Parts: sequence; C-alpha cells; structure tokens
Amino acid sequence: MKNQQRILITIILFLTGISFILCAQDKPYVVLLSLDGFRWDYINKVPTPNIDSIILHGVKAESLKPGFPTKTFPNHYSIVTGLYPDFHGIVANGFYDPETNREYRISNREAVEDGYFYGGEPIWVTAEIQGVTSASYFWVGSEAEIQGTRPTYWKKYDHNFPFIQRIDTVIYWLQLPEEKRPHLVLWYLDEPDGTGHYSGPETDNLKKQIVYLDSLIGVFTHKISELPIAERINFIIVSDHGMTSLSDEKVVYLSDYLNESWFERIEGWNPVFFFQPRPQYETESFEALKDIEHVCLWAKEELPEKWYYGSNSRILRWVMVADNGWQIKLNKDSRLSKGDHGYDNDFKDMHGIFFAVGPAFKDNYTQPTFENIQIYNLLCYLLNLTPAPNNGNFEEIKSMLIE
Ligand code: AMP
Ligand code: ZN
Ligand code: ZN
Repeated sequence: MKNQQRILITIILFLTGISFILCAQDKPYVVLLSLDGFRWDYINKVPTPNIDSIILHGVKAESLKPGFPTKTFPNHYSIVTGLYPDFHGIVANGFYDPETNREYRISNREAVEDGYFYGGEPIWVTAEIQGVTSASYFWVGSEAEIQGTRPTYWKKYDHNFPFIQRIDTVIYWLQLPEEKRPHLVLWYLDEPDGTGHYSGPETDNLKKQIVYLDSLIGVFTHKISELPIAERINFIIVSDHGMTSLSDEKVVYLSDYLNESWFERIEGWNPVFFFQPRPQYETESFEALKDIEHVCLWAKEELPEKWYYGSNSRILRWVMVADNGWQIKLNKDSRLSKGDHGYDNDFKDMHGIFFAVGPAFKDNYTQPTFENIQIYNLLCYLLNLTPAPNNGNFEEIKSMLIE
C-alpha cells in the first residue's frame, strides 16, 4: 500500500471514530418508572416535594387512563407495546389459553417467563433490534424472551427485593461504560398498590406510603442529577391504574346464584370474571346470572365498544364486571379487600399518573388525560426508534414535547 493511501485510511478511521463518539454523546436516555396502583390524585393528599419539583420542571398529565381491565399485567404490557389488552393478549392477570390448553397466572413463574403469551412488540424489543441497549428491573413481560429478544439487562421478579437496592442497580446501569450502558431503563415498584389493597386508598397508611415513595423519588432524582449524562435523561413516572375503596357491605357472592357444574371453566378475580358454560347449560346459566344486582353480564362480543375488549380467544364466552365500588367473590370463604381496581376505565378512581422531566419535555406543562397506549410511541420518539404497529396516535400527546 502506498504511503498516501495509508494516510487517507488513517484519516477516515479517525473521523469515523470521532463521529461515533459524537453520536454516542448525543444519544438520549429514557428512564421509565412504574409505581403500581398510584392513583392520579394521591399527590393532592400529602406533601410530595420531590414529585412537585418534577412537575414544576416538566410535564404532568391530569391523569393517565388505563385500558380495560384496569389490572396490573394488562396495563404494564399496554404501556410498553401501545396495544390494548385484547390486542397484546395479556387480557387479565390470569387467564386460560384455549389454543394451548394452558393457564397464565402471575404467580406461575413458568407462564410469566414464557414469551408465547406476550403478543405485540414491547419497547425493549423495538430498542434492541434497532441497536439501542435496554434494561428492565421487573417490568411485566421483560422476564420472557419475546420475538427471540430480551432486554440486555433484566431481573427475575422478586417481590421482596428492597426498593433502595433497585435504585442502586438502575444508577449502576446508567454508570456503565458507554458501550455497555443502556439508553432505555424501565423499573418497577409494587407500591402503593399493596397498601391500597390492604388498608384502602383513603387511609393514613396510604398517605404514609405516598410520603415514603416521594422520598425515594427524591433519592433517585438526586442520584441521576450527579451523573455526567444527567442533562440527557428523560425521566418518566407512570402507574398502571388507580384504586377505589371497598366495603364489606357491597359484595356479590357468585355461589348465591350459580351452580358450578354448569360451567367448563370460571376464571377471574374481582371485579372481572369470565365464564365458559357447558353447551347444555348455556341458556339456563345465562338467565341465572344476567339479572344479578350490582354487576353486569355480557356475551364477550357484546362488551361495550369503548373497552376494545372481547375478541381475544383468552376471554371466555361471558364476561361479568362489578359496578364501581362493588366486589364479586366466588363464595363466603373469599378474602375481602379494603381497596381494589380492575373496574371500568372511565371511573376516575381507576386512573393513574404520568409525570415526565428531561430535555424533550416542556416546563411546568399540564397535559389533559390521555390513554396509556400512547406511551409506546412517545418512548420511540424519545429514543429515535421506528415504532411497531400499535393502537396509539402520537399526535394526541406530542403537545407535551419541546418542538
Ligand atoms: P394486582 O394488584 O393484582 O393487579 O397485581 C399487583 C401485583 O403484581 C403486585 O403485588 C406485584 O407483586 C405483582 N407483580 C408485578 N410484577 C410482577 C412480575 N413480573 N411477576 C410476578 N408478579 C408481579
Ligand atoms: Zn397494578
Ligand atoms: Zn393491585
């Protein structure tokens, strides 16, 4: 090789190296935190100085509207796919899959970690296949290989793992050397959902939990503010649904109305139940269930259109939904809760939160209530990714972004 050629190649390699470093320095970061069951108005109940500071320097939605049913698994998976539960297939926290004759349960590790159950394309798959490294600390679905892909960094769910150590790991990920560092980080805390169920959403225990979570957010935002990449991080906090108070006086016991032998299968937890009647009991059983007070019963294809729910084969023949504030229990042995969710997503108590701060977001801006299926397109926009087909419409939320 002639000397001149060598020099030219060296210059080209040098310039490519510089442009790679410059590109890497420009690449944005997105950190998405979910606080399970954080109702839209909890921040009005107690002082939340750390969340207030995020809102002051960023965006707050009036509320975040979950999909139906307003439960944890369907909604976490809607947030990361932009699909309603009927479309992505996680139609409830637990369901029967007639195509494989298998059951999905959140307590069944094998099912939760099996990519077969998860339709659509979660954001970490979109990111990884487009060359963006991702990490997940307990986001629903991230323990499974979906379309042959997992986040580069992920954890097996451990309910009791201390919150503060989750923060430390997220910060550790954001401090990795550039070539290993994730640009998309999702993480999850199971509160205030647990306290909302156990104590009820209008209690001092719940208020204490909100104060504690706000202090954790303060710890986290302080730690990210000290990172060299702080200015490039878009930090978003969401919840999957809200919570409503329940009383022991407003309970419908199914055992008062039905004969279990009428059905091949009954699936569900308050407030949504699925029924698969045996063919010979179809009429009799429907008649027995359809006029029960404080619940509604539909054939799956006749569910209200506003829920975009009922065509998936994992939803059984009939669907029963409790009226807001009422509980459906199988029988008198069932444990009652002080709070629950899963109800109609137009019921404001079911709405969650959306707060966001970072270079892409406007300052001190309030976005009207929007649906959580819009978040997938937002994440794609923030990370310069091409979104997979989804139910969202980016136009509906882009007003929260700096042009
Ligand atoms: P629910 O309130 O019934 O809709 O579900 C909330 C529960 O889901 C929380 O208490 C968590 O413990 C549980 N949960 C969240 N993520 C996972 C996961 N990846 N695997 C198993 N359970 C989970
Ligand atoms: Zn939840
Ligand atoms: Zn819950």
